[in-house]
Amino acid sequence: MQFVSRAQWGAQPSRYALAYIDSTRGVKIHYEGSPVPASLARPDAHGQCADRVRDIQAAHLADDDEKYSDIAYNAVVCPHGYVYEGRGAHRKTGANGNPALNSAHYAVCAMVGDEGLTNPTDAQLAGLRDAIEWLRDDGDAGPEIKGHQDGYATECPGPALYAWVQRGAPRPGTSGTSPSTRGYEPFPGAGWFEDEPYSEIVTAMGRRLVAEGCSSYADGPGPQWTEADRRSYQKWQKKLGFTGDDADGWPGRTSWQALRVPRV
Ligand SMILES: [Zn+2]
Ligand SMILES: [Zn+2]
Repeated sequence: MQFVSRAQWGAQPSRYALAYIDSTRGVKIHYEGSPVPASLARPDAHGQCADRVRDIQAAHLADDDEKYSDIAYNAVVCPHGYVYEGRGAHRKTGANGNPALNSAHYAVCAMVGDEGLTNPTDAQLAGLRDAIEWLRDDGDAGPEIKGHQDGYATECPGPALYAWVQRGAPRPGTSGTSPSTRGYEPFPGAGWFEDEPYSEIVTAMGRRLVAEGCSSYADGPGPQWTEADRRSYQKWQKKLGFTGDDADGWPGRTSWQALRVPRV
């Protein structure tokens, strides 16, 4: 990760002490929502990026309606893939729309606009992915990756980034399912499965179930949670010796950890 700390980009101090947050359900992706010059994506334009982060912070500190404590985002990612530390890990964002939404997810903003640079670069998508993984590792972010518009009336993060989020926010050049060296996918919580998620985590889980000889798949596995996933997972629970309600096919923490799903 090409990380730029607050000191390195010349952040102003926070206006108020930032609220500590223990963990979140995941990360929400944002865009600037105003014009960003297309020329900013040029390789020789990176010298402007720290300036732009300072401008975003200054605008947020000057916003008398929102009364932000600081730049609202936990991180900002430039078109060259650098991750600028915003509020940072274990700090509650101010960007998601209301206090409940701010407690539920971290916020990462891409330097992408509603005019000019409207499509993220591949380097930027890789940087967003770096920021997400950093917040998982250092900030106890959960597995969810969503857009600002999920649960709040806004166009943010714009059509291009939102389509990427809906594909599971894959790192460019991969299907989003390659096993990384960062270990295993943490248990996403029982409720997460009951919402019938569409996620690369489901695909990765299914591949592990197949490898363990616990397949009930006619085709797949794929990212959409289906009854075939539940039946396959039930075989895994029975293989572990679980019975009754403990082998109902709905993932629990113990069986999940035993499955060792590679981190997506
Ligand atoms: Zn937003
Ligand atoms: Zn840059």
